[in-house]
Amino acid sequence: MHRRDFLLRGAAAGAGFLASTGLQGESTPPTPGEVIVISTWPFGKAANAAAIQTLESGGSALDAVEKGVMTAEADPSIQSVGFGGLPNRSGVVELDAAIQDGRTFESGAVCSLQGYRHPIKVARAVLDHSPHLVLVGAGAREFATDQGFPVEETLSEGAREAYRKWRKKHPDGKGPASGHDTLGLVLLNSDGHICVACTTSGLAWKHPGRVGDSPLLGHGLYADDEAGGCVATGDGEEITRVCGSFLVVEWMRKGATPEEAIDETLDRIARRSPRGRDVHASFVAIRADGMTGAGSMRKGFHQALTRKGKTEVLSVPAFVDRTTDENKR
Ligand code: ASP
Repeated sequence: MHRRDFLLRGAAAGAGFLASTGLQGESTPPTPGEVIVISTWPFGKAANAAAIQTLESGGSALDAVEKGVMTAEADPSIQSVGFGGLPNRSGVVELDAAIQDGRTFESGAVCSLQGYRHPIKVARAVLDHSPHLVLVGAGAREFATDQGFPVEETLSEGAREAYRKWRKKHPDGKGPASGHDTLGLVLLNSDGHICVACTTSGLAWKHPGRVGDSPLLGHGLYADDEAGGCVATGDGEEITRVCGSFLVVEWMRKGATPEEAIDETLDRIARRSPRGRDVHASFVAIRADGMTGAGSMRKGFHQALTRKGKTEVLSVPAFVDRTTDENKR
């Protein structure tokens, strides 16, 4: 039977999702009232700690995901997020961020924001103070100024130097965009409430104005208290083509475990993307019942998982190594 037929039949029967590997932290059953945080990449560890700390000091789940991802935005040694992020092909840092509340479906996002080291704070202000969900470029900047955020230098010394080297190699400023790693974070609070946040400088050397999946609801992040939450990292164009995070959440809504839901989504990318399996795409997710999972098309991805107060950074096995070109196991 063709894999697609198998999946469709399986879904219709309420079973038969791609088999879960059971490797990614979902072995411990969630205890009622447990706070669970999962995020992308090893730098997610500091983000999870800040999120938990925020809850412990009385902050809301939304405050927690915002404060969590601010850790990487503030760290100039991280060249893919906030201050320290690599610029576009013109040498200008353009940042993307988004935040969503899975209970109220309120969200806020900024894209191609220049001049602010903490785009997630501006995204939160969009959620709190704007009737809109997404603000871009000059408009996002005007909104940030109106909200009282001070303009800051966003090009770090390290990023300036990296850009200088890249321009030496590509004097016309038209080399390929490359290198990325978004910080995305999903939090399940003790009352079952889920919030998500994402922040990134996007692809290094990107075309000015390029926006990936990260600040777009349903693509880089999605949360619904009734089903679960998911965030993505990787090639934004490919994740966006399949509405990646939304797809993961919808599979979980149908009863898939987070790992199965992510595998289904990676399978969709592998089959439908013009680049097939030659794509970087990774997801981390929490189902509404507290089960967690992570998955990645290629090797090298890590999840940061906080359960019962303990955080582990776990390597995530590659989908391409676990499946064949025909997407059979
Ligand atoms: N998804 C981000 C983007 O395409 C980059 C990344 O997460 O690696 O902008």
